[in-house]
Order: sequence, then C-alpha cells, then structure tokens
Amino acid sequence: LPSKLPYAGTTIFTVMSKLATDENAYNLSQGFPSFNCAPELTNLVADYMRRGFNQYAPMSGVPALKEQLAEKTASVYGVDYHPEDEVTIVSGATEAIFCAVTAVVQRGDEVIVFEPAYDSYRPAIDLNGGIPVYVRLSAPDFRIDWEQVRGKITDKTKAIMVNTPHNPVGTVFSKQDLGQLANLIRNRDIYVISDEVYEHIVFDGEKHHSMMTHPVLKERSFVCGSFGKTYHVTGWKIGYCLAPKPLTDEFRRIHQFITFSTPTPLQYALADFLKIPEHYETLSAFYQRKRDRFNAAIAASRFTFTPSNGSFFQIVSYEKITDEHDYDLAVRLTKEIKVASIPVSVFYQDRQDDKLLRFCFAKDDEILDRAGEILCKL
Ligand code: PMP
Ligand code: GLN
Repeated sequence: LPSKLPYAGTTIFTVMSKLATDENAYNLSQGFPSFNCAPELTNLVADYMRRGFNQYAPMSGVPALKEQLAEKTASVYGVDYHPEDEVTIVSGATEAIFCAVTAVVQRGDEVIVFEPAYDSYRPAIDLNGGIPVYVRLSAPDFRIDWEQVRGKITDKTKAIMVNTPHNPVGTVFSKQDLGQLANLIRNRDIYVISDEVYEHIVFDGEKHHSMMTHPVLKERSFVCGSFGKTYHVTGWKIGYCLAPKPLTDEFRRIHQFITFSTPTPLQYALADFLKIPEHYETLSAFYQRKRDRFNAAIAASRFTFTPSNGSFFQIVSYEKITDEHDYDLAVRLTKEIKVASIPVSVFYQDRQDDKLLRFCFAKDDEILDRAGEILCKL
C-alpha cells in the first residue's frame, strides 16, 4: 500500500520500550511513570464504572470535567475559558495536537516547527498536506532565536507549533519568549499550537508560562494538555484542548470524527480529582527530587549535562565516552548494560546526531539509583 507517511517507521518509544522489555533492562526510555497513580483516583474510576457511567460521554467532554478544568485554569493561570464553548476533552494530547493541526492547516500551508520536535508533529502536518518548516535549536541551551523564526515566516505560514516545558530537552519558555512570539503573529493570520503537557513539571522555582497568559497569544492558540502526565496515568490517554470559541468550533468538528468522545468514567473521576489542587501543586517538587536523584546517580559518570528545567526528561552528552551514533549507542546500552534511553537524533527530521541521549526519570528511586550506578561504569 502506498504510504502517506513513508518516512515513519514504528515510533522510537515503542521500539525502545519493547527492546527494554525483551532485554529485561531498566526502562528509562519511553516517558511514563514506573509507579502507580494515587489509589483514590483508581477508586473513583471503579466507583463510576460500578455506578453505570459506562456509555458515551458528550462529544466535547463531560460538563463536570470541563467546568473543573476551566476553574483550575482560572485559578492557576488567571485566564478564563468558557467550559461549554472553549474546553474540549480528548483522547490524549496526541489527539489534541492532531485535531488542532487539522483544524488550521490547508494543503500547501506552512507550519513552523522547532527541532528537536516531539515525533507526532510532523505526521499531523503531513497528513493534512501542510509543509513543515523547521527551525533548529542547538545544544547546549536550545534557546529560540526569534529573529531566525521571523525569517522563516512567509505568506503561507499558517501555524507555529511550540512545546514548553520541552520534550526532549527540558527547556521552558520565558515570559520574553511569549512576547516575542506574540510580536511575530500580531496582525497576521497565524495560529499557535501549544503543547503544554508538562505544564505542572517545572524546576528550580521556574514558572510555566502558558500561551494563554498572553492576550495576543490566547486569541490564536490551541493549548493542548494531558492528564496522563499530571496524574501518572499515561495509559488512560486523556487530555484536553483550550481555545477560543471560533477555534474550538473547528477543533470539535474534527474531534467528533476522530474519536467522537473520551472514556466516560475517567472523565468523571478526573473531575473529582481536579478539585484537590495539591495533586498538581506538588508535582514539580516531586519530579525535581527525581531529577536530582538521577543526576546525582550519574554525577560520577563521564556523561555531561545541564539539569533539566522541566518535563520528566534529562538529556546527557556522551561525547567523552564514545563517538558512536546515538541510536546505535541506545540500542547497545539496552542490550549490554541493561539501561534503555532514547537517542535524541530521532527528534530531528534529518537525524542530526549531537551525541545526546534522553533519560526519563519518572521512575522509582531504586531504578534511578541502579541505572545510575551502571551508567557510571561506562
Ligand atoms: N506531547 C509531548 C511533548 C509528549 O511528551 C507527549 C507524551 N508523552 C504527548 C504530547 C502526548 O500526550 P498523550 O499521551 O496525552 O497523548
Ligand atoms: N511522550 C512520551 C515520550 O516522549 C511517549 C509517548 C508515546 O510513546 N507515544 O517518551
């Protein structure tokens, strides 16, 4: 069958997690917690299931969850979205991103994408006949040069995709970044698709600057989030999109034919759970401890790194250890020393190899300690 995504093999996350399982390795590759979510949360789901909340949810989400999410958004960011018209619950941020891209991109439209980029962005653009226009961010700081971005904007630019906190490199947007982005799209017909799935995981007193907090950006942004990251339930595949009504209208027109709706008992359970701010308010400190634990465990190794500012990933340079290609090294380390990681080159469309590996530290302390010990022997 002729493929619409001829360049795409099986995603690296699936490949590396499978290899880690086959090799019985510590899996610091795919981004998911090795520990369970709060028992209250699974109890809530079980309760709602038993009570018969098992049929289709409304297409745009269960009202209680949309309302709680709007309330939480107002309290955390001081920004109002109308729960009925501007909040949509979807099956994971992956779906949110796909629907947002589909909502704005017409054949031939250009979409600016920063590399390294999460792997679902390009396929979403390609499947809609769009043209990805890449802006490359480079080690060690991966900062955005907004003048360079300005140089890539043409009459065909329809959207800019942003990701903060960033997967895989762990950088976060500053308030100045928001201002610069707003200046670029002001008075232009350009939308922002903002991947903010790690919104509650920022370190060292930094703050998450959501696109919604800038008035110019708010009007033009699809803000995509994921309950999976915030509540340690990545397997539930439940997320959301916050966007002004005209954007949401088109988003939902598409969402209704991709998944239609998202599992009902999960939505009710999350609506209840969202009422307790402590769960997301303590997440940054929780993951900062994990980051520090992993970084301490590899401190004596020959890897070099700058501590991640957000997300649950740490990238490290292995330049002092070997000059192997990062993909080959990630595979070899999984097989030989039983520690799995993600090669950062997969986040560049030309597979640029900067000798970096990504480790996920959303893992039990013993796994972080043990993996660190092994990595120190390299
Ligand atoms: N964007 C980024 C940057 C991610 O890391 C992930 C998931 N790991 C997603 C989107 C997808 O989120 P979800 O699992 O809710 O679809
Ligand atoms: N976002 C996760 C990661 O970066 C993986 C999610 C997936 O496997 N699709 O590791």
